[in-house]
Amino acid sequence: MTTPRPNGDSVARLAACFAAGAIVAACGAGTPSVTRAPYRADSGSLAVHCGTLIDGSTDEPRHDVTVVIRDGRIVALAPGRSPQQDLRRLELDGYTCLPGLIDMHTHMTELPQDEADLRVFYTRTRDEAQAIGVANAGATLSAGFTTVRDVGTYIAWTDRILRDSIDRGDVAGPRMQIAGFYLTIPGGGGDLLVPGVPESAIPARVRVGVTRGPAEFAKRAQLAVDGGAGLVKVIASGAVLAYGGVPDANEMTREEIAAAVAVAHAAHLPVAAHAHGAQAIKDAILAGVDTVEHASYIDAEGIALAKARGVALTMDVYNGDYTDTEGRRQHWPEEFLRKNFESTEAQRQRFTAAHAAGVALIFGTDASVYPDGLNARQFPIMVQRGMTPMEAIKSATSLAAHFLGWEDRVGRLAPGLYGDLIAVQGDPLADIGRLQDVAVVIKGGLPFKLPALP
Ligand SMILES: [Zn+2]
Repeated sequence: MTTPRPNGDSVARLAACFAAGAIVAACGAGTPSVTRAPYRADSGSLAVHCGTLIDGSTDEPRHDVTVVIRDGRIVALAPGRSPQQDLRRLELDGYTCLPGLIDMHTHMTELPQDEADLRVFYTRTRDEAQAIGVANAGATLSAGFTTVRDVGTYIAWTDRILRDSIDRGDVAGPRMQIAGFYLTIPGGGGDLLVPGVPESAIPARVRVGVTRGPAEFAKRAQLAVDGGAGLVKVIASGAVLAYGGVPDANEMTREEIAAAVAVAHAAHLPVAAHAHGAQAIKDAILAGVDTVEHASYIDAEGIALAKARGVALTMDVYNGDYTDTEGRRQHWPEEFLRKNFESTEAQRQRFTAAHAAGVALIFGTDASVYPDGLNARQFPIMVQRGMTPMEAIKSATSLAAHFLGWEDRVGRLAPGLYGDLIAVQGDPLADIGRLQDVAVVIKGGLPFKLPALP
């Protein structure tokens, strides 16, 4: 990135810029250009004039506002065009600006086609996983997701390698909160047992979090904390996309989950629990987890418990469509397709019930079960199933940031937070599908995607 230069003729150029009435015009002290790696993360300074602005926390959009970003952070939301003569400018009349979106359930270093034969993880190297992660990170950022939570990787710590390379500015991608590996029982939803493969043939690096008993799970949680995880992930029920798992059956016990929660919370880290089944969801909540992933078969008691305890549900209501079509075409195991078919509509109905009851629902998609970058396909389903468009936007901005523990960094367009901003043409409150076509992506004040200049 070039640093902004003092520019004596910027006033004249601004006037010319406004007079031209351009829908998109780069004015001020130089033309913004798309950031390429390597770059200095969170170093950007930019003034973005938004025709309409949704700040991620208040219900009413604002019009004709300039977001001023200096050294990676938002310093002001100023009415009108508010010329900042020393800054490069981006004119976005006709666009709606929003905070960078947040996906709370991703697996950035993996691929959908891995589901066709999970044995690929036995031989994949960390370098190969990183190459997958780099491509996924670019696609995710380009789709407008400037922050993700990565809730587990089969090959331990490939998520940390990717996170750190993005933070260093070596790779273009979203901010990542990572789990490192899954805490799961032998043969559980986070284990990689495959029928016909002896356990002795499975490499240890894909079973780092596989154990039994509260004391052992506490040790594995500590391993995650000490290794630099930003959250701890536990597998409380069977999984859809794993051999032999029964989604409606418990796996880790309440005591085992509680042991992991105690370690994570002592380190001020949140805990996310994979749980499809009604009893596993309640056990996980009573064990003290912060978010429940999937929640496909949550019952009325579980909904009431989640609400009373302030636990959020991450209901990945889009990806079942992908699995049922593309997964079928790719010959994913019949067992996976059956469990997906059984749980997809059930989960969507419970999403409606949980929303009606006022439970916190955060945007999470299980990206990498479907191709990364298609994350926003989930928004229209959330709206069809009961949310207002503004609720769906908050679930992927301020509400998600709350459950990351990153409210002071991301999720809103407000002074002090990172300059993470996206823009779409038109009004996403009238058509939430607009979020599937993000034209502008700025992260830490650096443009990573810009519309074509007229
Ligand atoms: Zn997942």
